[in-house]
Amino acid sequence: QITVGVLALQGGVIEHISLLQKAAAQLSSRSSTPTPQFSFIQVRTAAQLSQCDALIIPGGESTTMAIVARRLGLLDPLREFVKVQHKPTWGTCAGLVMLASAASATKQGGQELIGGLDVKVLRNRYGTQLQSFVGDLRLPFLEEGEPFRGVFIRAPVVEEIITTAGDDEVTKLKGKQVEVMGTYPKPQGTGEGEDIVAVRQGNVFGTSFHPELTDDVRIHTWWLKQVVEGLKSGGRDVQAQS
Ligand code: GLN
Repeated sequence: QITVGVLALQGGVIEHISLLQKAAAQLSSRSSTPTPQFSFIQVRTAAQLSQCDALIIPGGESTTMAIVARRLGLLDPLREFVKVQHKPTWGTCAGLVMLASAASATKQGGQELIGGLDVKVLRNRYGTQLQSFVGDLRLPFLEEGEPFRGVFIRAPVVEEIITTAGDDEVTKLKGKQVEVMGTYPKPQGTGEGEDIVAVRQGNVFGTSFHPELTDDVRIHTWWLKQVVEGLKSGGRDVQAQS
């Protein structure tokens, strides 16, 4: 049995759980060999977190989430989960902000983060709630098919990949560099090229957008598969096994 938690302090919790259930059903119906049983739980305490093999940090509001996590004594257990135990963790939107090692300064000043991804994020890159949009994404890690409908709500983007390892270290840490998993064209008037909207580094995965607000189960299915494969080969490191 594999236990996957969704951090349930604030934000889109139920939506993730419902898509995870669909993804698990799809995995078992598609596989010729028996797939593990999953249990999906809401995580509000360190004890619940310790039951989890993998975790999703949902969208919401990252400053609020950090304040609540601090109050409940969850920030350090979360950092341990992601950065010491190296358990598979996926953050969507505010969850991506929480998993970044730095977030660009906000009016209120800094905010507490969990870290795990050596990136700096730019919060609210596309503006306010009113500037929310849905955009088609080509995500090379998904099987061929329709573009993925990316739901962007006060979304952050990765504005900088912070290189923490020198060449030797990179070799030692092979597979631990930040990988760009998805991009989206910069809005007009905000520069040339593409914004980074999905990244992975070892066990940590982050998306700017909200797959849980669509009925497209592909990213959840892909991620659960990574979780299963990582656990099967005895490691916690999702990327190293793929
Ligand atoms: N703008 C929010 C933040 O910075 C994220 C919004 C979201 O999760 N939809 O935390």
